[in-house]
Amino acid sequence: MTVRDIVLIPDPVLRVECTPVAAVDDDVRALMDDMLETMYDAPGIGLAAIQIGVTRRIVVIDVSKEDDDKNPIFLINPEIVWTSEETSVYEEGCLSIPEFYDEVERPAACKVKYLDRDGKPQEMDCDGLLATCVQHEIDHLNGVLFIDYLSKLKRDRVIKKFAKAAKRGERPEFKRRRAEPDPAEAEPAGADQPAAK
Ligand code: ZN
Repeated sequence: MTVRDIVLIPDPVLRVECTPVAAVDDDVRALMDDMLETMYDAPGIGLAAIQIGVTRRIVVIDVSKEDDDKNPIFLINPEIVWTSEETSVYEEGCLSIPEFYDEVERPAACKVKYLDRDGKPQEMDCDGLLATCVQHEIDHLNGVLFIDYLSKLKRDRVIKKFAKAAKRGERPEFKRRRAEPDPAEAEPAGADQPAAK
């Protein structure tokens, strides 16, 4: 397993529509192992193959809590087949847009159809953080980023900041929107980057 480089905005590869996986073979499994390693290393709770520059419809997710056992989920050719009318708001982050977080409203629950590590068709009901993470990652497969749900002003500002930093060979810095969230009110950070500690 190898930790791969994560592609950052404004790299145009992040806007590519990814192609379905024809067969779940050892190459795909090796790729997913690298993705998982890369995600844990970041650290993150979700990663799409496109984020390491591989434009195929593959996602890895692990929303288990830090102290719990690891619980990786491998989604190949995932497809959302149902979403709830009820919505929820999470503060989302993205490994391709490090250190930037903002709130996004999405369906609170969803059902996803996918192929597992063995190429077997599966269905999974998701709610809470997992539902947000799954939707965020599947967006990646369609070239969509969570900043697309923000105002154009905010989005343009973030993209510009990353473009400038890339030219200087640095990472941009952002001030946390909420310095110390009230633990009673705080929602867990959403996909695919946990809030900075
Ligand atoms: Zn992301």
